[in-house]
Amino acid sequence: MGRRQLWRKVSAIPPVTFFKPAGIRMAELEEVRLLVEEAEAIRLKDLEGLEQEECAQKMKISRSTFSRILDSARQKVADALLNGKAIRIEGGNFEMATRRFRCLEGHEWDVPFETLISAPPEFCPRCKTPSIMPLFPPGMGHRGRHGRIVGHGS
Ligand SMILES: [Zn+2]
Repeated sequence: MGRRQLWRKVSAIPPVTFFKPAGIRMAELEEVRLLVEEAEAIRLKDLEGLEQEECAQKMKISRSTFSRILDSARQKVADALLNGKAIRIEGGNFEMATRRFRCLEGHEWDVPFETLISAPPEFCPRCKTPSIMPLFPPGMGHRGRHGRIVGHGS
């Protein structure tokens, strides 16, 4: 827990996070869980068409780590597509490109990924209160230490 060096930078969470094949009853439906950083790997490599080196740089990880995440992502998507399983995008070990924080007094400010990794904020830049909390995109897990998003059920 809280191993910040493992965070992968993610620039966007997909607008839709659950896909279900048509014609399969929920009781019989198997589900594949695609981590948010796996979805980001597919987005960068397959949708934007970047080289693996660029993708790895954007996610602030090594090329071999990126390659492993991408392989895992593609394997899951293929499994879902060809075996008729649902895909749920959630959880993982990632951090957003920027994270919005709010203090007890209602001040809000954005903290870039690089700052979150090197020196997470400890007080509000305006009123200096230490009572601050990160705000989360709707429906994305709960709050962990230093604002890390942690998936449900992992
Ligand atoms: Zn404040």
